[in-house]
Amino acid sequence: MSTNGAGAPLVSVEHLKVYFPIRSGIVLDRHVGDIKAVDNVSFDVYRGETLGLVGESGCGKSTVGRAILRLYDPTEGRIVFDGQDITELKESQMRPLRRRMQMIFQDPFASLNPRHSVGRIIGDPLRAHGLAKRGDLSKRVRELLQVVGLPPDAGSRFPHEFSGGQRQRIGLARSLALNPDFIVADEPVSALDVSIQAQIINLLERLQGEFDLTYLFIAHDLAVVRHISDRIAVMYLGSIVEISPAEELYENPLHPYTIALLSAVPIPDPEVEAKRETILLAGDLPSPANPPHACRFHTRCPYIQPTRCTTEVPALRKLSDGHVVACHWAEEIKAGRLRPKEREAVAEQPLLQPAEEPPPV
Ligand code: SF4
Repeated sequence: MSTNGAGAPLVSVEHLKVYFPIRSGIVLDRHVGDIKAVDNVSFDVYRGETLGLVGESGCGKSTVGRAILRLYDPTEGRIVFDGQDITELKESQMRPLRRRMQMIFQDPFASLNPRHSVGRIIGDPLRAHGLAKRGDLSKRVRELLQVVGLPPDAGSRFPHEFSGGQRQRIGLARSLALNPDFIVADEPVSALDVSIQAQIINLLERLQGEFDLTYLFIAHDLAVVRHISDRIAVMYLGSIVEISPAEELYENPLHPYTIALLSAVPIPDPEVEAKRETILLAGDLPSPANPPHACRFHTRCPYIQPTRCTTEVPALRKLSDGHVVACHWAEEIKAGRLRPKEREAVAEQPLLQPAEEPPPV
């Protein structure tokens, strides 16, 4: 893991929106609304770092990853890769950049063609981009297999002959074939056994150092991203609610959603585990077609305060170096003046006066 967060970003996402239209009617095909999968998301990914992007299923984190790679068209906003605005580029203009931006998928089996040998799967990107001639191709495939810890004869076998962890290694070898700068790893270990997860995360870390890679590591579980991430961004219902250096986030989470997510992460020390309080969130994730107004988290937030939480959108504000939070009451939570409540008790809570807020970032 590299330490970063300084210098020019390799990837900048600015006020990104990705909406998917909802249509109705057989004769008159009418646009009746939008699924607001990503709604005004901004962050940077610095060269050589791993930014963890975490949130529940359906929060829009995978859509962000795919939009950065231009697999989805942004509805609004800007995506800048290595200083170049790629938001409006056509597929032909994206082609040279595709070499530099790769993706690793959650389900390694579904992403590998079962009818192709592993050698062909890894060699195809090299062939498509004209990066290796016939003789060099098999040598390069063997090198890549070795890099990801697979035997050289794996090239002549087929994906179904491998375990889940080995298939993820094949996917990694394919992603590395074009010598990329940036990899979006979309839940790369979620489908794997816990023991295998650690092996793949260790491998990703080693490859980052060897190949000077920058990762956007997407996961639904804060425990998974802890060891690989330099910084972590937490997403809720299409928006970023907190970004922080990784250690700081685990020691001092400030957004109520992050606090609730972390309270569910198991702690290896049984004494600490027995004493701590798990915060259960009320209800399900609301529909991104009709997100709650003001603070989107207010329908489930155990820290909710009267009026302001339900009338005013909280801006993403800087609370300390590199730590930004979208909550009106982050200072009170940090100071311990606000405690989580049962949702039923919320209506009787006295109104706290928030500390003076620094300007939005
Ligand atoms: Fe909870 Fe209010 Fe903060 Fe939103 S602004 S996260 S509802 S305390």
